[in-house]
Amino acid sequence: MTKAVYCPASGQGPVVRPQPDPVAPGPVDIERVTELIGQLLVAFGEDPGREGLAETPPRVAAWWNSFLSAELSARGACFTEARLSNQLVVVSGMSVWSLCEHHLLPMNLEVAIGYLPDGEMMGLSKFGRIALRYAGRLQVQERFTRQVTEEIGGLIGSKDVAVAVRGTHLCMSMRGVRMEAARTTTLQASGRFQDDPVLSQQFLVLAMGQRGAA
Ligand SMILES: [Zn+2]
Repeated sequence: MTKAVYCPASGQGPVVRPQPDPVAPGPVDIERVTELIGQLLVAFGEDPGREGLAETPPRVAAWWNSFLSAELSARGACFTEARLSNQLVVVSGMSVWSLCEHHLLPMNLEVAIGYLPDGEMMGLSKFGRIALRYAGRLQVQERFTRQVTEEIGGLIGSKDVAVAVRGTHLCMSMRGVRMEAARTTTLQASGRFQDDPVLSQQFLVLAMGQRGAA
């Protein structure tokens, strides 16, 4: 995330100061979360001891633990393929669940990733693991899109990466404006994807086309 700060003294207009990314969540204190979910039920006016709710606090705590611990390491291989160059690779149709950090409500993110392998190519499942890892935390779609782009750029040692994400946000469909059909699309393109409009267009056709009607 970046924040624009206006500095009139400099005479140079707004200055963008990059903000550090939130750190990945640490291990979940399951016992404490169980206790807090029980207290939450009490605050809702519920009886956490009644049939139906008795096992809810540990069940919810176990879910939080599994959600926040998802794919902490991005295992997966890179392969050498010396004669591979100038080929556009697009992996699409990846669907991950994350949680909107503003409302703690789920968002489903459909992810498509494109890159230009040059002598080295990434194992295909690695794309899914990276998407899962950045989804398994409190997120916003815009940051998720950038983080996945930067991670893949770092792994392939090139900026020639593009990531398109289409999100369905329950905080927009089940609360607030309650627009069930609303979708949010984000695109982060860097390197040649940013400089070459034809390549950018090819990526979008492959990324969006395989998702069905956008
Ligand atoms: Zn939200």
